[in-house]
Amino acid sequence: MVIVMREGASKKEIEELVALLHEVGAEAHISQGEFRTVIGVIGDRERVMQMPLEAYPGVEKVVAIMKPYKLVSREFREEPTVINIRDAVIGGGHFSIIAGPCSVESEEQVMQAARAAKSGGAELFRGGAFKPRSSPYSFQGLAEDGLKMLAAARDETGLPVVTEVLDVRDIELVSRYADVLQVGARNMQNFLMLRELGFSEMPILLKRGMSATIEEWLMAAEYILKEGNKKVILCERGIRTFETATRNTLDISSIPIVKGLSHLPIFVDPSHATGVRELVPPLCRAALAVGADGVMVEIHPNPREALCDGSQSLTIDGFGLMMDDLRGLAEYLGRQ
Ligand code: PEP
Ligand code: MN
Repeated sequence: MVIVMREGASKKEIEELVALLHEVGAEAHISQGEFRTVIGVIGDRERVMQMPLEAYPGVEKVVAIMKPYKLVSREFREEPTVINIRDAVIGGGHFSIIAGPCSVESEEQVMQAARAAKSGGAELFRGGAFKPRSSPYSFQGLAEDGLKMLAAARDETGLPVVTEVLDVRDIELVSRYADVLQVGARNMQNFLMLRELGFSEMPILLKRGMSATIEEWLMAAEYILKEGNKKVILCERGIRTFETATRNTLDISSIPIVKGLSHLPIFVDPSHATGVRELVPPLCRAALAVGADGVMVEIHPNPREALCDGSQSLTIDGFGLMMDDLRGLAEYLGRQ
């Protein structure tokens, strides 16, 4: 349930209420809105319901949240979550671009891609140093050497780095180099890892599992928020369907659905959703038009030689053209 405090409820009233909730063994998660404070209560429902909550000073009303996820829900927080990552702003009306290669391959490749991301207008740079590959014989990533190359690219361009953490044992290592930790589709229900990321202070880009429902995806985000980390960015990357023309099927309707259910920012990854370079620009337009907070796209200085996902990677020129096109549409739609 959530306890909605009156406008102007004092700090003391809030603290006393939180202390009482702790006494009955409940967790209290505070969301400070522009005008009022909302307290998300998680714990033994029976015991909490026995408290005459509406009679406590400063309380306006108590609302039950019927959904299985609480802290990610709109009921808990009405205003959209905005996340600042160095100079980049995620959410709150901005449409941000994350661009970069699928995987880090060499210093030169990363630097070329990062410069192209920057000059095209991307706000964040992506690249995988730990790659989740279907085959154990495929390129698995450069690990810490790759992380160092990403950090060097950030030092030169100023773009914050998004990179995947594949294993709970690598969280500490990846956090030393990255600005955003990506949880890939295959790890969306790695609950131990989600919980651990909940204790972290790093922003998390949480991809939708390839067979996950929207509710399962939001429950995965709930695992992270529950432990205190509120900086979660959702990313729709396509789901498995019977269609074979694309690698996955982009569930474009998930964006307005999630916007209605949750305050968390949501991105679209048309590269992994389609696997087809030519489909990336039109689906970025769709993402912008449907209200996503941004897109994540793969770019490569020489896609034909990419060690991973070359056929879905935009060339540097292609990325520049797409960005010019998106700027026009953003202006038309009144987005930044
Ligand atoms: C990626 O972004 O490089 C990636 C592997 O994506 P996904 O987890 O969505 O397949
Ligand atoms: Mn990829």
